[in-house]
Amino acid sequence: MDFQLTEEQEMIRTMCHQFADEVIAPRANEMERTGEPPFDVISKMAELGMMGIPFPQRYGGGGGDWVGQMLCIEELSRADGSLGGLLDVTTGLVCQELYVFGTEEQKQRWLIPMAQGKEIGAFGLTEAEAGSDAGATQTTAVLDGDKWVINGSKLFVSAIGYDDASIVVITARCPAIEDRKGRAMINTFIVPKGTPGFKVGADYDKIGWRTLSTNEVVFEDCCIPAENLLGQRGRGFAQHLEVLQTGRICVGAISVGLAQACFDTSLAYAKQRVQFGQPIYGFQGISFKLADMAMNIELARLMYLKAAWMKDKGLPHTLEAAYAKLFASEMVEKVASDAVQIHGGYGYINDYPVSRYYREAKLLQIIEGTSEVQRIVISHNL
Ligand SMILES: Cc1cc2nc3c(=O)[nH]c(=O)nc-3n(C[C@H](O)[C@H](O)[C@H](O)COP(=O)(O)OP(=O)(O)OC[C@H]3O[C@@H](n4cnc5c(N)ncnc54)[C@H](O)[C@@H]3O)c2cc1C
Repeated sequence: MDFQLTEEQEMIRTMCHQFADEVIAPRANEMERTGEPPFDVISKMAELGMMGIPFPQRYGGGGGDWVGQMLCIEELSRADGSLGGLLDVTTGLVCQELYVFGTEEQKQRWLIPMAQGKEIGAFGLTEAEAGSDAGATQTTAVLDGDKWVINGSKLFVSAIGYDDASIVVITARCPAIEDRKGRAMINTFIVPKGTPGFKVGADYDKIGWRTLSTNEVVFEDCCIPAENLLGQRGRGFAQHLEVLQTGRICVGAISVGLAQACFDTSLAYAKQRVQFGQPIYGFQGISFKLADMAMNIELARLMYLKAAWMKDKGLPHTLEAAYAKLFASEMVEKVASDAVQIHGGYGYINDYPVSRYYREAKLLQIIEGTSEVQRIVISHNL
């Protein structure tokens, strides 16, 4: 068994680590306070090739692997979880769905600029009545000659509010096309932003990840060309579930990056904060918290890296992705809470980054399938 990163993976990690420390971290609290998306940072990420690491160069990618992409996500999330979230959506979900299921034409039109970071992709699965029960899609797509007519809405669509967002990839039910059991089939569609009948609602006011826009999207007789069907007819939901496995590894990596930030800040603070005549690190109540943090972060890191490695090897990784997502997201919530505790009253003040980490951490138990959904996935696969 080889736990050593390749030279290329090590290079990606070092570059992203440095970028996070020098470019993102100094501005992260202010970006979160204003909620302004850091478009200049995102274009630098694109220039450095961070959006398409695992895709072949002919499709605008870096010709690397998913382990490298996840290391990048971990390192950026150490400075700002929402930038890791952006990579999760646009690279882990949308680029990947285009790469695995798209036609050559779709890859040329949509994947290349997205893997290069020139355009951003959004992923629309959740609806008002279809949250954890994501197959309960009510949005419809009806084939009318050479176009699909889409009606319905998607909730919580991350990144679609960005100026550079070019498409949302959605699931929709096709009433005229039934499966063998007579149910309306679910297909996946590429819906370009700006198509008439495509409306982006107001940005939700969130408790964290404020720089990553999250909006409702409404489709009213929104017509897209017939060739915007993505993948096979009737396999739309299954395709979305398949790419969500990668999304789960991304959430594992984001959680580890955020937890590492909590740990680094807390260790430094515990070594300099003096109470009862000594640094608080000298009290076992504090140093044991840090010991547990360090151990659990390392365990979660090994879990997401193993899942990414299995993906790179083409091995089934449903369980490993769910383990990584569940363990890492639960771990970071506890680590962020302990980080605030170690900072005492200062941890509750917005000037200190740990208060932001605490707000960022909670979301990770909800997106890409809640903790309860991960337990369902795991128990169904035992
Ligand atoms: C900031 C943010 C960004 C998001 N980005 C996107 C995005 O880009 N694209 C997208 O499609 N979605 C996105 N989502 C939506 C997210 O994936 C859903 O919120 C999530 O899947 C849960 O669905 P829900 O909110 O409807 O909760 P519900 O499904 O209503 O769940 C409520 C509670 O019930 C529990 N529950 C539900 N069913 C079961 C069960 N069978 N057994 C046990 N417990 C159960 C859940 O675990 C949860 O605790 C985003 C959400 C947020 C907050």
